[in-house]
Amino acid sequence: MPIVNVTEQLATQLLQDSEIYDLLKCKCEQCISDVLAMALNRLPARYVTTDTGRVFVNASYYLHPQLQSDIVTELTRSALQVSSYPHHAQQPKVADTP
Ligand SMILES: [Zn+2]
Repeated sequence: MPIVNVTEQLATQLLQDSEIYDLLKCKCEQCISDVLAMALNRLPARYVTTDTGRVFVNASYYLHPQLQSDIVTELTRSALQVSSYPHHAQQPKVADTP
């Protein structure tokens, strides 16, 4: 039975769906991963083992706006930090994306 960190899933989802994504100067895979890793280190992990469990935690997440706002707060902080100090050298080649 696989173990899933629901906080990670929600954070990934929130990062892609929200304005936080626009805060990122660089949207490469490394910067996205850095933001998520940084935020997740500051957030409580919520592990579930079944899809039923995942549904339950998802539901409780929507019922507890505080958890959502904690995730958004940490994602925002991390996005600003990674944008200021990216772990890679300055912009490689970003011309491919329209
Ligand atoms: Zn980057």
